[in-house]
Amino acid sequence: MTRAEISSLLDALPVVSSHCHHAGADHHAGLTLNGLLGSSYAGWMAQPPAETHEARAAFVDRLATNTYFTWLSHAVDELYGRGPIEPGSWDAIDAAIGEAHTDPEHHYRLLGEHCRYRFAVQDCYWDRGHDHGRPDLFRPTYRIDSWVSCFAPGVIDHDGNDLWADLGLEAGSLVDYLDLLDDHIAAAKARGAVALKSALAYERPVSFDRPLAAPAQRAFKARPDAVSSDDVLAFGDVVFHHCCRAAQREGLPFQIHLGLGQISGSRPMLFEPVIRAYPGVTFDLFHAGYPWTGESAGLLHNYPNVVADLCWLPLISTTAAVRALHEYLDVAGSSERILWGDDTWTGEEAYGALVAWRHVVATVLTERLEWGLLRESHLEPLAEKLMWRNGAAVFGG
Ligand SMILES: [Zn+2]
Repeated sequence: MTRAEISSLLDALPVVSSHCHHAGADHHAGLTLNGLLGSSYAGWMAQPPAETHEARAAFVDRLATNTYFTWLSHAVDELYGRGPIEPGSWDAIDAAIGEAHTDPEHHYRLLGEHCRYRFAVQDCYWDRGHDHGRPDLFRPTYRIDSWVSCFAPGVIDHDGNDLWADLGLEAGSLVDYLDLLDDHIAAAKARGAVALKSALAYERPVSFDRPLAAPAQRAFKARPDAVSSDDVLAFGDVVFHHCCRAAQREGLPFQIHLGLGQISGSRPMLFEPVIRAYPGVTFDLFHAGYPWTGESAGLLHNYPNVVADLCWLPLISTTAAVRALHEYLDVAGSSERILWGDDTWTGEEAYGALVAWRHVVATVLTERLEWGLLRESHLEPLAEKLMWRNGAAVFGG
């Protein structure tokens, strides 16, 4: 098969996305090009520009090689037909986006029709376990961060969630608190949750190695200015390990953000003791642990309860995603333990993320054919696994 034939095959396949933060109708209504950039990863890299040709030219020049921007520009070009994002096409793209989103279904159609999603696992960190009321498109994951972080009423997590106020929690003891956590996880599963999710790497190290009762008890409902950071971490470790036992009991995969975040504490090997301690839990290790994609490969090689998830990686670094996918195919005991997700807030960026993933898969499959690492008869079944079958299997059909 040629590269073009492989690309055509990938374009025609359905898709399962292991991870997204799709924003609701309110966000998409009245969307502008600057609004799209501002809610994309390109907006992390540079503030969307003022409405002058010079400002727009400087913005595009600055991000011209950045793969967050490159794939978003590519998506906008394909979806709206006004060219890539350049100063000269800016106003036409802006008008086309605004016009398209006067239809409140447009952002859902971008996922269902343009991306060909069977479903996406939706991480509504602002409303735990929510699916926008669209179970046809989204399967929720249940974010556990605020349970780990909010050791006392009034303490908020890194996304600004105030767990105790949000849920009206009344827990007299740490045991009560953990019982309530169990109840909320069971209820989320009953409402359709297909996984648990941790993004704690944005606020603390991913080593959860001091789940000690005494310091956790000291932190529970303590005044924030009167508790040590060690006790707060121990409280988080106790709650995190409780979540692992809940994942095992409920049969829910546990999605773990690794890499980037607070980069000093997010390397995948720091999480290895948890993987080893809970062989009955499937740990879905996100973002290939970038930049430590090789550490994720080692964990994938050694632990059958690990799934390597390249969600977000083709946008972070397309070339790193090509290297990582090659390596995961080399070492995985089964090619069924490799996933992808878009990890985006808008339909447009989700489409760009998918086009990036297709590029990565087409590149890797073409090279493996050339190198004799893949027989042609195995190519189509592997492509189906990478695009949707693996995600469907991990998250329940
Ligand atoms: Zn995410």
